[in-house]
Amino acid sequence: MELELTAEQRQLRDMVREFAEKEMAPHTREWDQDSIFPSELIMKLGGLGLMGIIFPEEYGGAGLGYVEYATAIEELARVDGAVALIVAAHTSLCTNHIFQSGNEARHKKYVGPLASGRMLGCWSLTEPEAGSDAGGTRTRAERQGDGWLLNGAKTFTTNGTHADVCVAMAVTNPALGHHGISAFIIEKGTPGFRAGRQEHKMGMCASDTSEMIFEDCWIPEENLLGEEGQGFVDSLKVLDGGRISIASLAVGMAQGAFEAALSYSQERHQFGRPISDFQGIQWKLADMATEIEAARLLTLQACHRKDHGQPVTKEASMAKLFAGETAVRVAGEAVQIHGGYGFLKDYPVEKFYRDVKLCTIGEGTSEIQRLIIARHLLEQ
Ligand SMILES: Cc1cc2nc3c(=O)[nH]c(=O)nc-3n(C[C@H](O)[C@H](O)[C@H](O)COP(=O)(O)OP(=O)(O)OC[C@H]3O[C@@H](n4cnc5c(N)ncnc54)[C@H](O)[C@@H]3O)c2cc1C
Repeated sequence: MELELTAEQRQLRDMVREFAEKEMAPHTREWDQDSIFPSELIMKLGGLGLMGIIFPEEYGGAGLGYVEYATAIEELARVDGAVALIVAAHTSLCTNHIFQSGNEARHKKYVGPLASGRMLGCWSLTEPEAGSDAGGTRTRAERQGDGWLLNGAKTFTTNGTHADVCVAMAVTNPALGHHGISAFIIEKGTPGFRAGRQEHKMGMCASDTSEMIFEDCWIPEENLLGEEGQGFVDSLKVLDGGRISIASLAVGMAQGAFEAALSYSQERHQFGRPISDFQGIQWKLADMATEIEAARLLTLQACHRKDHGQPVTKEASMAKLFAGETAVRVAGEAVQIHGGYGFLKDYPVEKFYRDVKLCTIGEGTSEIQRLIIARHLLEQ
């Protein structure tokens, strides 16, 4: 059992860290405060091969695995969780669904441009009435001519307004329940398809979260992704990888908040000495570092299983649950260690505190992760 990153993986981590500190850190505050979607940065990430790490080189990807992917997401999130979320939704949700369920023609047409970052992707499962119960999807796709007519609305779609390609789930046979839901690829500019309201969020403000609206939107048969009726089942597989993304995002943000608190505790003096001299602060730092390491190991375990083709649903849910809850606790303690200054926008922990909450909600809430884990335990 090998618990160290390889030399190549460390090289990738260092490269992403340097990029994040140079190209992202000086701008994160402005992107956050003004909710600016960092389009130019996304193009640079594409240039570095970071928009398609897990896809084969023949399709423009980096040909690497989930360990490398999670390492890169962690490093981006350590500086700005919103950027990591943009990359995660694009990679492990949109592009991965097309890669996983699409045929050779779909791979060539979409995976190539998406994996190389020439196109941006989004993935729409959630609806106003179908969140945790995503099988309650109402968006409808009906056969019309040699294609499909889509009507309905999706909500909470990351990258929705900026994406060139959307993968969306819609009901093709209401009588078949979960097995009557199919996945479709819809390109930006298709008549009847548009992004609706952009949400105003408490955190992850530089990432775009939008409604997606389908009004008599006709798409050709070839844009049915995978088998008819398999869209929901395929989505659950896609979410295994998605949950690994959110776990690594949580680890990265927790690490960023921890590092800020560690250095602040050594700089800030009260009662004539640095606050890091006080055992009350030392114990907080020790708990934070320990929990982050445990979350990282759970995440890497899920990555390792995914890279080796082993079942990963339970492990991905455990990683996401633990890492998400850890990130919320760690960011809270990081604010606490900063005292009143942690409450100010001048210090990075305030942003981490707001951003990390997404990790216990997106791609299945903590309650839903517990439900998945318990289902696996009780089945055995
Ligand atoms: C910033 C952001 C980005 C997102 N990006 C995307 C995206 O790109 N694509 C996409 O499709 N979706 C996306 N989502 C949607 C996200 O996946 C959903 O918000 C999430 O799955 C929860 O659904 P909901 O908000 O409808 O909450 P609800 O399902 O209404 O849940 C409300 C509460 O009830 C609890 N609950 C529900 N059912 C149960 C149960 N059976 N047992 C116990 N508790 C339960 C939940 O845990 C939660 O606490 C995003 C969300 C956010 C906030």
